[in-house]
Amino acid sequence: MNGPRFRVRFPAGSGAPRLVLLAGCLLAGAGRLVQASPAGSPADTALPPLRVVLDPGHGGLSNGAVGVAGVPEKRLTLQLALGVRDLLLREAGVEVVMTRDQDVDLDLGQRPRVGQPADVFVSLHMNAAPSPQPRGIETYFFGPASDPGAFQVAERENAEAVDPGPLADDSDVAEILADLWRVGVQMRSAQLAQEVQQGLAQAVPGAVNRGVRQANFAVLRLSPIPAIVVEAGFLTHPQEGKRLADPAYLDRLARGIVQGILRYARATARERQAMVTGRQVH
Ligand SMILES: [Zn+2]
Repeated sequence: MNGPRFRVRFPAGSGAPRLVLLAGCLLAGAGRLVQASPAGSPADTALPPLRVVLDPGHGGLSNGAVGVAGVPEKRLTLQLALGVRDLLLREAGVEVVMTRDQDVDLDLGQRPRVGQPADVFVSLHMNAAPSPQPRGIETYFFGPASDPGAFQVAERENAEAVDPGPLADDSDVAEILADLWRVGVQMRSAQLAQEVQQGLAQAVPGAVNRGVRQANFAVLRLSPIPAIVVEAGFLTHPQEGKRLADPAYLDRLARGIVQGILRYARATARERQAMVTGRQVH
């Protein structure tokens, strides 16, 4: 079955489409210096290492949303992230860094800097709505809002910043957006979002699949690597809100996220391997 369809939207004036190929090449040379096995060794068939930054949304003074179960989003995102971490650490060659593993404040500008250099950044959140009807799972990557609903989700999550300072720095952000590198990162972010959303849809087939969307999340805008926000369900929906407070349900969500990350890792393995080889040549 095909995953959710989406179209990559680029910021106005980025000249993105004709630069995608070039950016892809730049991206292939990006990242960190990692150790690789000598040529011809049996380990050549193994996936190159993958370093994952997990970002449990909110924390400390920022509770995030509170829904029908009465449990603040910050606690559920941490529980979900710890589950994802434990599953990922069972995989050979996967490293995990948490932006937080306790109930502490961490502003949106700091989060994308934690654990760099890394390969992917996954921020975990739960959704909320003024009415009890909306439900389902959606995954975001950075870009102009794909629809008014996506805009509202990003506005709500951005408002939770403990220190909104970096959000005001529009000149820096404009430079980032104009960067070829950024285009390559956005393409990979879209790919990561699709894999994770598909993993979630398969792990929790009863949940509404709201698909892959784009919005101007501060935590994504500032990320130097492929980055997504998972909105794992609506805390404000009468049934889904209760399920999200159930450890067994969070475990299913964690398994779906991990499957998506691993599929992305396999799909980009050659690119990461080329990076390792290139570094060895020099
Ligand atoms: Zn949130």
